[in-house]
Parts: sequence; structure tokens; C-alpha cells
Amino acid sequence: MQQRSNILVVDDEPSNVQILAEGLSDDYDITVAKNGLEAFNNAQNFQPDLILLDVGLPDVDGYEVCKLLKNHDATRDIPVIFVTARDDDDDELTGLTLGAVDYVRKPFCMSLVKARVSNQLELRHKTQLLADLAMLDGLTAIPNRRHFEVEFEKSWRFAQRKQRPLSIAILDIDYFKQYNDIFGHLQGDKCLQTVAKKISDSLVRPMDFVARYGGEEFVIILLDSDLDSTIKVAEKIRKGIESLCLKHEYPTSNSWLTVSIGVATIVPQQGDNHKELLLQADKNLYHAKSMGRNRSAQA
Ligand SMILES: [Mg+2]
Repeated sequence: MQQRSNILVVDDEPSNVQILAEGLSDDYDITVAKNGLEAFNNAQNFQPDLILLDVGLPDVDGYEVCKLLKNHDATRDIPVIFVTARDDDDDELTGLTLGAVDYVRKPFCMSLVKARVSNQLELRHKTQLLADLAMLDGLTAIPNRRHFEVEFEKSWRFAQRKQRPLSIAILDIDYFKQYNDIFGHLQGDKCLQTVAKKISDSLVRPMDFVARYGGEEFVIILLDSDLDSTIKVAEKIRKGIESLCLKHEYPTSNSWLTVSIGVATIVPQQGDNHKELLLQADKNLYHAKSMGRNRSAQA
């Protein structure tokens, strides 16, 4: 079952708040703000699913609040419906141009408000599902490369601000081309799914992150993890995959499937480029391969 949605009602007139809250509280959780600043703070901190926004407010008007919301990453995607006594078409146009999804004129008909709220929440739900899907790798159901890029930049900024170590591990399945040639692509797909799951299961901290980087390559972000800890994690993953005993027939007829991992760590300074960390991990992966595979290597 879908979770109950949370609606932020912004209005300085208690009777309006009461009517809206009473009309909606059977189906939704309601939070109330009585002025523009309170509305903006509430939206940032509590991330409502939808905002019903009055235009005439005692501090900043609703249009300004909408501008603020649309200019901030944390609140940009929250749908806003204006509820206002201004019944001029130009006012409605202003509201919609500022990024509101709908406009309700006072005095309002509660069943119309309910229908509009329900439509917008449904739309938001579908949009979020699509956005989530766009960040997932279709085959392995772990994050994809696009998701990694977003996460990596976030982690980099965090590590730079807090002066904490940030580590990257790039993992590549050994002799995967031969695996596909010997067992076929369907089996190859299963192998990728198994390896993806094993890596995910091996990462224990909530902020640890793994994505399919492409083909048979996976990339792991370990925030606040120094080189020693990262090598331990990499080795745990490498051994874990080896111990799955997935049969391979290359390079010898009684081999198990193995992986090689390149690891790199940095405490990012101003002026450092996050791509360098990736390049370093990639170089180290190459090193692990050239030293005989089934190992991890660090700078
Ligand atoms: Mg008002």
C-alpha cells in the first residue's frame, strides 16, 4: 500500500486552514504554516509531497515563496497549488509561470480541491517512479552509471567540505568475454546479477554505494573510508565472489569466476578534480589485472 502523502497547507487565515485541513485530513497528513518564511523552512525540513499555497501572506507573498521553493534543489520538485482570492487571469498566469502545477480560486469548492490534489499527487508518484527507474540498471537492479555520477559528485563535495577520506573501488570480472563465449549471454547476464548482489550484500554501511559502471565493471563509493578500510572491503568482496564458486572454464578447465579490483583514496582539497580519483582507481584496476587478476591493487 502506498504511504499517506503529506500536504503542507500555507494560509494566514485560520478559517481557511481549518476547512482545508478538515477536508483533506481523512486521506492525507496535514502540516500548517501561517507565513511565507515558515512555509519555506517547513518545506526544506519536512519535504511535503504537495504544498497548498495562499498568495496573500503577512511576510513575503506566495509568489515569492514559490520562487524560493523553485530555486532550491531540496524543494524544487515539490508540486505547488496556489489557493487564492485573487481571481484575475493574470494572477493565475503569474502563479503557473512561477512553476505552480495548479491554481484554485477562493472561495473554493472542497471536492474540487480534493480532486486536484489527488491528480497532482498521482502524477508526482508516477514521475518519481520514472525518475527512480531512470537511475537503475535494468539487468542487475542496482544503480546505473548516471546514478553513480550524481552520487559521486555529492560524496566528493561532502568529503571536501568535511575533509574526510573518499574512496573509489572499480571492480571488473576476470575473463568475462570468455565466460560469455563458453556459457552464452543468458548465463552471462545471470552472472552479472549474482556478482551485483554479492557486492551489494557485502556493503554494510548505509552510505556505501555500488553501481554498474558498464559491461562487467562495477564501481563502489566508500565515503569516510581510508585506504586501509577500503582495501579490507575490496578484499572481502573479492573473496566473497570467489567463494560463490561460479564455474568458469578459463583460463583452466576447473576455474572459478574471479574479479579484480582497483582502489584509490583521497581527502579532496580545493582545486582537486574528482575525475582524477576515478582515473587512479582505474589505473590500479589495470595494475591488478596485469599482476595476474583475482586481486585488488591500490596506489
Ligand atoms: Mg492570506
